Amino acid sequence: MESPSIGSLYQDLILEHYRRPRNQGELPDRTADVHVANPVCGDEIRLQLKIAGGIIEQARFVGSGCSISQASASMMTSLLEGRSLTDAEALAKRFGDMMRGDADAARDRRLGDLRALQGVSKFPVRIKCAMLGFDALRKPLEHNSAISGGP
Ligand code: ZN
Repeated sequence: MESPSIGSLYQDLILEHYRRPRNQGELPDRTADVHVANPVCGDEIRLQLKIAGGIIEQARFVGSGCSISQASASMMTSLLEGRSLTDAEALAKRFGDMMRGDADAARDRRLGDLRALQGVSKFPVRIKCAMLGFDALRKPLEHNSAISGGP
């Protein structure tokens, strides 16, 4: 059983990202620009990426909505910069696993601050909030594998 202090530590990290989002803003030289919304909660995220040679060089987002959706986008963009599209896809899959309650995924250090969102998996209506940033990421990833002919 986890001590309550770990839960509140995660809560603090979520609020910290919500109040001071990383990578917020627009990218003038973006190569991908995706807007997604979660009407159930009123969350919106516009994700902009600069991708070159299969690497995500820069990631920015503009959004509004609940703390979970905005903190998740902030945490996600922090992890994406400098990462290959293949790595980004693996990260998205791992995060999806954690949201489905996979305990191994919740311990995976590669997820970084995103692990603070593991408690969300117990609240099905909030999972869509946490996944919103990754929903936006799906399009550029699919576009990439279409160009390279898939794995
Ligand atoms: Zn939400």
